[in-house]
Amino acid sequence: MNVYKFGGASVKDAEGVKNLFKIINTHKENLIIVVSAMGKMTDALEVLCNAYYSKTGDIEQAFQKIKDFHQHIINDLFGTQSEDINKSVDNLYIKLQNIIDSEPSLSYDYEYDRIISFGELLSTTIIAAYLEKQGRKVKFTDIRKCIITDQNYRNACVNLELSAQLCRKVFTFQDTFMYITQGFIAGTTTNQTTTLGREGSDYTAALLANLLNAEDVTIWKDVPGIMNADPKLYENTEIISKLSYKEAIELSNCGAKVIHPKTIKPLQNKGIPLYVRSFLYPESHGSVIRELDEKLELPPIYINKDHQLLLTLSPRDFSFIAEEKLSRIFATLAKYRLRLNLMQNSAITFSFCIDLNEAIFEDFINELHGEYEVLYNKNVRLLTIRHYNEEIINTLTTDKKVLVEQRSRLTARFVVADQ
Ligand code: ASP
Ligand code: MG
Repeated sequence: MNVYKFGGASVKDAEGVKNLFKIINTHKENLIIVVSAMGKMTDALEVLCNAYYSKTGDIEQAFQKIKDFHQHIINDLFGTQSEDINKSVDNLYIKLQNIIDSEPSLSYDYEYDRIISFGELLSTTIIAAYLEKQGRKVKFTDIRKCIITDQNYRNACVNLELSAQLCRKVFTFQDTFMYITQGFIAGTTTNQTTTLGREGSDYTAALLANLLNAEDVTIWKDVPGIMNADPKLYENTEIISKLSYKEAIELSNCGAKVIHPKTIKPLQNKGIPLYVRSFLYPESHGSVIRELDEKLELPPIYINKDHQLLLTLSPRDFSFIAEEKLSRIFATLAKYRLRLNLMQNSAITFSFCIDLNEAIFEDFINELHGEYEVLYNKNVRLLTIRHYNEEIINTLTTDKKVLVEQRSRLTARFVVADQ
């Protein structure tokens, strides 16, 4: 059995859905197709969710934008035969309307997940109907009944044992050899909707592969494979045809957007290869991530993480930054759900880089202010270079002010600001 994952960019319009059909239509073995919300619909649903929760902004307009976007694709795909699919989609809209017509609960994260999940529900409903229309038998499966999580809304943690049991019951391949299901969303034991973190569909694909012992996973992307740098930002990038799990997890953790960081572990644990291929050129091989015995000669790989906040804390009473202080700082980070992207300490300073989030910036700083003097730089960039050499460091850091520098044997990292 194989798992294919199609992200939002691959199904951003009717052409994309037709292309998905072409790709899966040549597939001869058992297959699970995991799909994200179409195009930028998750962002559009976030706008709707925020308008609903904060009672500001135009809820109707935000909802209409989502409806128009999908209707356009439905019209292109189904033309005059759109009666059935319109009915299915309308049923989803009624459910969403019911949510936004009611008073929000006290938990933003809970409301967020139940609203945002409609992106994936809509995309899989439309795509399943289109594949059916083209004569492919695919079984639509609601993943919320199979991947079960705790109630940590927006970043839920999967109950692997229970999910394995349920997945094995649902994905039997007895009366079909193709399933289509949603990435990113999941459910609780009490039937609440949760999500696994933004861009989490890759993780869903990897989880299903792990729980069902798939042969491999393929992520279909708009890039030809894993590149040594983002081709949208740099010239002369090259494709890396083979990578180890270890290298891949380091890269995605440093901010390489090609795969979600949580994707590698479930695959590594079962030795399942991950292919990254282009949906635009499905005949080319792309890249593979798997266990590698040989040592690879890799070119310098560089990754930019923009919109960073660099903070330096110094205790006001001149005491050392020791374990106790660090653990309190970490607890504050956890409270605001902030992830450390880089850290460095000296006797009486602790510097770190996190994603800049204006919405919580003030509260977060205020919380630290009592105990520490806080210096910060907003909107700096974290540059990571794996397999670095001096030449590439010079090229990438000229014209930049280097605020922090760290080097280990394989990795050089810089926090830089434009001069
Ligand atoms: N649709 C979700 C998002 O945009 C999940 C995904 O794309 O993987 O975050
Ligand atoms: Mg997406």
